[in-house]
Amino acid sequence: MEKLVSLAKRRGFVFQSSEIYGGLGSVWDYGPLGVELKKNIKERWWRSMVHERHDIEGLDAAILMHPKVWEASGHVAGFTDPLVDCKQCKNRFRADDPKIKGTPGQPDAQCPVCGSKGTLTAPRQFNLMFKTFMGPVEDQAAVVYLRPETAQGIAQIGKAFRNEITPGNFIFRTREFEQMEMQFFVKPGTENEWFETWRAERMKWVEGLGIRPEKLRWHQHGKDELAHYAADAYDIQYEFPFGWQEFEGIHNRTNFDLTNHQQHAGKKLEYLDPKTNERFIPYVVETSAGADRTTLVVLCDAYTEEEVRGAEAADAAEGGEQRVVLKLAVFPLVNKDGMPELAHRIHDDLRRHFNVFYDDGGSIGRRYRRQDEAGTPFGVTIDGQSTQDQTVTVRDRDTLKQDRVATAQLVAYLTQKLAG
Ligand code: ATP
Repeated sequence: MEKLVSLAKRRGFVFQSSEIYGGLGSVWDYGPLGVELKKNIKERWWRSMVHERHDIEGLDAAILMHPKVWEASGHVAGFTDPLVDCKQCKNRFRADDPKIKGTPGQPDAQCPVCGSKGTLTAPRQFNLMFKTFMGPVEDQAAVVYLRPETAQGIAQIGKAFRNEITPGNFIFRTREFEQMEMQFFVKPGTENEWFETWRAERMKWVEGLGIRPEKLRWHQHGKDELAHYAADAYDIQYEFPFGWQEFEGIHNRTNFDLTNHQQHAGKKLEYLDPKTNERFIPYVVETSAGADRTTLVVLCDAYTEEEVRGAEAADAAEGGEQRVVLKLAVFPLVNKDGMPELAHRIHDDLRRHFNVFYDDGGSIGRRYRRQDEAGTPFGVTIDGQSTQDQTVTVRDRDTLKQDRVATAQLVAYLTQKLAG
């Protein structure tokens, strides 16, 4: 994991927030490459969930909502994690932290940090919602919450905030993050069928990102894990360097939300089926993915260290025989080798079709290594022959094979390669 974090920083994917002030705990900024990667993931989600379906609409609801929304949804009373303190070393944990041995509050419990016995307090419930005040008066009447999930709104991507007790593992668990959530309203009685449909759809989408199937598995929530609103829930888990963990959940939320909002707001939230004239409160099947966690899945899955053999190994002094590669499919690159005008022309031409990076710093070997680490799938090199016969070489990041391609054919060549 440390290697990935340092690569992310080195190549401009993700940085610590407010770094010059010593950083803000578990808050991260996305740099030029990271923002492109996360944006690609979000756009892919939007396309498949909103544009490619006739039965889902997109929304962008406000982060601040009436506080009654969170009372009715059960978040004010129930969106809590059990918090445990060590009286000795003052560290805080979630009571369900697997590193805790024994039962917190009992003499046998052992602190996972300082090792003291019997110093862990009994669990206290800690609400994860960030509270703030609307307007100039800081009193109870002005309390609003930063939404802890984007749902409560249909298909939407947006920021969510949770005052997590133990954030960490890079962008896995943070206090500010982005979710890609969809709530699907169905007729009561059909929810189990839709639940299975959505499980299959979401796994297909994840596999479509190119994630290795052996690193993916389902985890069904046991009775003690189910959220206060859910009748059934499955997580899609990935085997991160720190173990199997969820990055997307599919939940059967029953009619919990709408029934409660109807009660609290005093407004009917029934649906009238125009075909049968039946009235009912719909059930909700929800798919809830974290954009940052999915980005972390993609980065972990793409991270590869390998030995270079063949022609590029001969270049060892410049690039080294070991290389770190992100096996992503993001964008091609243009290198120039002493032919600036032609290189700029090709760069401008490609830029209208792809995300392109112009790199003329250092030796060619070093440029290749840099772009391998950024995940750039193709490198276009302009050399002496290029100005004579209007051809360039295109290097494939994964096979290291180089093809000579006519500049007029370059867009078609890359389009075809990127589609495959
Ligand atoms: P966990 O048990 O890991 O805290 P959760 O079960 O509370 O997660 P959900 O409420 O189901 O998570 O949220 C749906 C998705 O939102 C998660 O699968 C995850 O990808 C993302 N997510 C939730 N909390 C965080 C967080 N603190 N940081 C980053 N992503 C998060």
